[in-house]
Amino acid sequence: MEFQDKVLTCIDCGAEFVFTAGEQQFFHDKQFKNEPKRCKACKSKRVAVLERASLLARRRAPLCSCRTRATCSQCGKDTTVPFRPTQGRPILCRECFTQKKTAASA
Ligand SMILES: [Zn+2]
Ligand SMILES: [Zn+2]
Repeated sequence: MEFQDKVLTCIDCGAEFVFTAGEQQFFHDKQFKNEPKRCKACKSKRVAVLERASLLARRRAPLCSCRTRATCSQCGKDTTVPFRPTQGRPILCRECFTQKKTAASA
């Protein structure tokens, strides 16, 4: 199959860019079904935005790691608590905690 340079229009900025024969060959080899939709500038801009988003997501993630692994003192199940467990203080997993609260209010 022969490939020829093709002019495509960027969906982001509307600029025309060349989808070269080499790139088409590459897309064909990789069995990519869709032609590129963005010019190189918009593509790298988009990659930068996505990288920034994933970086922010990763930076936001550690919020969960402040939970400490602990063992429920009632049922012995592994659980996580939003605080550092103190010695002697009973740790309850979510189920036991809810159970206790329900029992207390009943
Ligand atoms: Zn563009
Ligand atoms: Zn429990």
